[in-house]
Amino acid sequence: MTTTSADTIETALVTGASRGIGRAISKDLAGSGRFVYLNYHSNKEAAQQTLDHIKEQGGNGALIQFDVTDRQAAEDAVKKIISEKGTIEILVNNAGIREDRLMVRMKEENWQRVLDTNLSSFFNVSRLVVKNMLSRQYGRIINIASASGQVGQAGQVNYSASKAGLIGATMALAKEIAKRNITVNAVSPGFIETEMVEGISLEKITQAIPAGRLGKPEEVAATVLFLCSRQAAYITGQVIGINGGIC
Ligand code: NAP
Repeated sequence: MTTTSADTIETALVTGASRGIGRAISKDLAGSGRFVYLNYHSNKEAAQQTLDHIKEQGGNGALIQFDVTDRQAAEDAVKKIISEKGTIEILVNNAGIREDRLMVRMKEENWQRVLDTNLSSFFNVSRLVVKNMLSRQYGRIINIASASGQVGQAGQVNYSASKAGLIGATMALAKEIAKRNITVNAVSPGFIETEMVEGISLEKITQAIPAGRLGKPEEVAATVLFLCSRQAAYITGQVIGINGGIC
């Protein structure tokens, strides 16, 4: 079982934990003894399935519904967790969407929704969590970025901008709080088999991936799990690609 220096079970909050990568991360964190708050937006059924699976495997957690674009709702949720558990040791900012189209056809709402969900969410959810971590002098924050934020992807001006912004925020926050035993890192997946890539023509993309295949959510989760560990104390402000060699 994973314990803090105070011998309590660590508390984790994973946004977008109902499906895909967030689900895999939540399962791994719960499987390693953490109590995991599984955030979701609208898919309660999927979130409940994730929690049921965690409990079947002997883990523990709870659902916490909120929209990461709603700062008040996010801060209320963080306050609720802190009032229940006293502390949040691990925050995984994973919730994200894409609304792809060429820039010339992009509507303002496509731009705004993606920036709000993938980037402003970082601020909405993390601010109070960081305050709590500072008071405890310990924490692990992992932001799920994307290869698109590192190299740009045609049709994803909004998404690439949001993930590049998230990488910048990761590096800046890491520098602000490194001395307090709080690490902040970004994991940057390439193409991963989740509902997010449904509808994308994957044949050409797969040919361009040196590994010759898409990644699995579990392959992202394994790195996140390590970054959440005590052993990862000296890794901060980094962007770790999980992309089959695509960049
Ligand atoms: P997914 O299967 O589409 O799942 C998205 C998750 O985000 C769901 O749990 C969804 O909740 C949640 N979510 C969306 N909008 C939200 C909001 N406003 N408030 C709270 N939760 C919200 O996506 P995924 O592939 O697992 O992606 C997870 C993260 O990895 C994203 O940040 C994505 O950008 C990043 N990523 C994915 C890939 C890939 O190839 N799949 C590659 C690079 C980076 P509901 O179920 O309630 O809707």
